[in-house]
Amino acid sequence: MRFENRIPLATPTMHGEEMKFVQEAFNKNWIAPLGFNCDCFESEMSQYLAGGKESRYHCLALSAGTAAIHLAIKLAGVKAGDTVFCSDTTFAATVNPVSYEGAKQVFIDSELDSWNMDPKALELAFEKYPETKVVVLAHLYGSPAKMDEITDICKKHGAILVEDAAEALSSTYNGRQCGTFGDYGIVSFNGNKIITSSGGGMLITADKAARDKALFWATQARESAPWYQHEEIGYNYRMSNVVAGIGRGQLLHLEEHRKLKEEIYYRYKKGFEGLPVAMNPFLENSQPNFWLSCMVIDEDCDVDPMAVMDRLGDANVESRPIWKPMHMQPVFKNNDFITALDVAAGEQIFRRGLCLPSDIKMTAEEQSAVIDIIKSMF
Ligand SMILES: *Cc1c(COP(=O)(O)O)cnc(C)c1O
Repeated sequence: MRFENRIPLATPTMHGEEMKFVQEAFNKNWIAPLGFNCDCFESEMSQYLAGGKESRYHCLALSAGTAAIHLAIKLAGVKAGDTVFCSDTTFAATVNPVSYEGAKQVFIDSELDSWNMDPKALELAFEKYPETKVVVLAHLYGSPAKMDEITDICKKHGAILVEDAAEALSSTYNGRQCGTFGDYGIVSFNGNKIITSSGGGMLITADKAARDKALFWATQARESAPWYQHEEIGYNYRMSNVVAGIGRGQLLHLEEHRKLKEEIYYRYKKGFEGLPVAMNPFLENSQPNFWLSCMVIDEDCDVDPMAVMDRLGDANVESRPIWKPMHMQPVFKNNDFITALDVAAGEQIFRRGLCLPSDIKMTAEEQSAVIDIIKSMF
C-alpha cells in the first residue's frame, strides 16, 4: 500500500488562536522589534514551567534554540581552549555553540535506560579532565535524563549545567519540568518541535542577572550611552513580536499536544508486541513528552532499520535515523569520547534504531497502517 498524502515525521499543528495574538501585534503596530507578545510569551512560559505556582524562572525569547544554547554557553563562562562535556547522541545544535566560543567538546556516551548522558561516563570524564567546568546535556526525543545523578555529579565537581530541553518541553522528571534543572536551560520552537512559533527558542534561568546579561548580548551588546557604545561583541538573537504571538497561541495547546504524542507512542508499543522490537525507553520517575516515537530492533534480528526506512519511504511515510552520535561525525574526529561500556550505547542505538512518524495529525487508522507495514518486514 502507498499513502496518497505523505505521513510526516512531525510538522506544525496550528489551532487558530495563534492568529489572534499575531493580529493583535499588527493592530497595535507592534510588528518589530519587540513588544507585548515577547514579554507575555516569556512570562507565560515562566508560569508554565512553575506549574502555575509563583515562578522563579526568568525566560528570554530568542530567534532560535541554538541561539539560546550559545548564550547559555557564554553565561557559563566558556572560553577559547576550554574543555566542555557534551551529550554525544543528540542533534549537532546542542554542541556546535561550544565551537563558536573556541572551546572543545568531549563527548559523553549515553546509557540505555533513557538514551541520555550516562552518569558513569560523566564521572569517568571528570577523572580524565578534572579541570572541566561546564556540562551540556540534551534530553533525547523528549525522554528526561538521569537528572538526580547528573546534577549531583555537576555539584560535586563545581561544574555548571547547560540543559538542552529543545526536544523536551513539557517533559518532567520527579514532577519537575525539563529545562529547569540546569543553571541555564533552553527550549526550542522550531517547526518540528512539540509546539512551534515557526522558529525560535527560549533561555531559562533562575538567575535574573544572567537573563539580563543574555538580553544585552542578544541585542547587539549596546552599552547605556546616548551614542552606540560597545565594549563587548553582541548578537542579533531576539525573537520578533510576531513570532512570539504564534508561540503564545501554541503554548495554550502544549498539554494537548503532549497527550496526543503519548497516545501515538503507546499505539506503536502495543502494535509491536511480539516483535523483536522495543520503543525508546524512559525512566520510571519521569514523564516524557513523547516528542518522537522511536523503535530499536534487537541486535540478533536480521531486519535492518534502514530497510524499514526504505519500505516506509516507498509507502510515502517519513521516518528518520536516530541522531548519529557526535563522536562519529567527521567534523568532530579530533574530539575525545568517553564511554563506560564495551560497545558505546550511542552506537548501538544509532545502528539499531529508527524515528517513526509522530505527527499529531496522523489518525489512528493511518498509524495502524504504518504499523502493519513495519510488521510485514518481520
Ligand atoms: C531542535 C534542537 C535544537 C535547536 O533548536 P533550534 O530552535 O532549531 O535552533 C537544539 N538541540 C536539540 C536537541 C534539538 O532537537
